[in-house]
Amino acid sequence: MRLVPLALLTTLSLLGGCSIVDVQQDRQPSRAGGDVVTPALKDVERFWLANFGSVADGAKFVPVQGGKFPYSESDPPPACGGQQSSYEPNAFYCPPDDFIAWDAQQLIPELQETYGELLVGFVMAHEYGHAIQARIGPENQPTVVLEQQADCYAGAWLADVLAGKSSAFKNVTPAQLDDTVAGMLSLRDQPGTSAQAEGAHGNAFDRIRALQDGVDEGVTTCAGYRARNLPVTEVPFTTREDAESGGNLAYDEAVSALADDAQKYWQRTFPRLAGQDWADLPIQPFRSGEPPDCPQPDASAEGAAFYCPDGDFVAFDTTRLGPALHERIGDFAIGMLLGDLFARAAQTRRGEPTRTEQGQLVVDCLAGSWTNDLLTRDSKEGLTLSPGDLDEAVQALLAFGRNADGDGPTAFDRIGAFREGTLKGLRACTN
Ligand SMILES: [Zn+2]
Repeated sequence: MRLVPLALLTTLSLLGGCSIVDVQQDRQPSRAGGDVVTPALKDVERFWLANFGSVADGAKFVPVQGGKFPYSESDPPPACGGQQSSYEPNAFYCPPDDFIAWDAQQLIPELQETYGELLVGFVMAHEYGHAIQARIGPENQPTVVLEQQADCYAGAWLADVLAGKSSAFKNVTPAQLDDTVAGMLSLRDQPGTSAQAEGAHGNAFDRIRALQDGVDEGVTTCAGYRARNLPVTEVPFTTREDAESGGNLAYDEAVSALADDAQKYWQRTFPRLAGQDWADLPIQPFRSGEPPDCPQPDASAEGAAFYCPDGDFVAFDTTRLGPALHERIGDFAIGMLLGDLFARAAQTRRGEPTRTEQGQLVVDCLAGSWTNDLLTRDSKEGLTLSPGDLDEAVQALLAFGRNADGDGPTAFDRIGAFREGTLKGLRACTN
């Protein structure tokens, strides 16, 4: 977050870091060792055999002709376009020679170990997406568009997997899906040749949007990606200081500035939503393990943060949960937490549910609507988003928004609802 005091127009510089550490470690163990890539690529080809025609005027699908190459430091990838590339931990498609290569020594085993096989499948589907681009275009689009289109194509393949059509990935669980999204936060895709400009792939928020576009809309939507129609949320650094610091608001400052801002947002917005005024929502900080009394807490983070409908207040653990979110993810993880709690209060005050699956998704959308306000406001004063903040929100949802007991929406769905509010504002949450 960036906070420019109204009186002192001194720029504090507050960019979130890019840690991928989850607050809760509840990953699925993966089947280590076996070759996941070969069956994944076969399955991606099965998918394109069925779907290529719909984005290529009925043309027949031709699989990659140049081969598929695992590589390592001692066994480097083939030359691409006559240029021998040095070993790098990545995966890439080589347009001039129409081949796909991947680091079987480090990258793929690490992704598989940390995020599971499905992410490995996703990465290969992404690379295959570049092969599709080589076949049908578009040409002359910025790298960020091509990368997100490849994510979108991979998302379309993922929808096929979720529909049970894949022989390589069966019975995908909500946890595997959430792990795959978590993996998007760590992917540093480096296509083909050497260093592309950093950040050209988009932030994780945008890449996950592209993935979910593919899941929800299919390959035709992906094929229509152009610079002019892609909602890119990556916000620029406004000062060099901002770019260099990589910092966050200090914890206490973040909590008070965000709480204050959320309060003001709901004062302005709630009358429009509910036809009544917003009474200040009390926030009760508590020490870990000593929550204030509440007969039926509407929990956001397993008891460490909740809205209390009976007392009409919110409470959160400011000695463990708060600092952990701030330290491991960044200041806007606190924003996500407070946004969620305020949204629960807003839903409850207007007589709508928060504990049903649909109610939870409206809560996330409403938290997003506040984020939309932060994202689109005049940035000359007050609190605004910094680069990294939206990714921090996504990370926070993956950390505390997972569906541990299998009852309720996945983090995957919650991120989607949050993004709707973030991109479209309040109107997206009420229809
Ligand atoms: Zn790529």
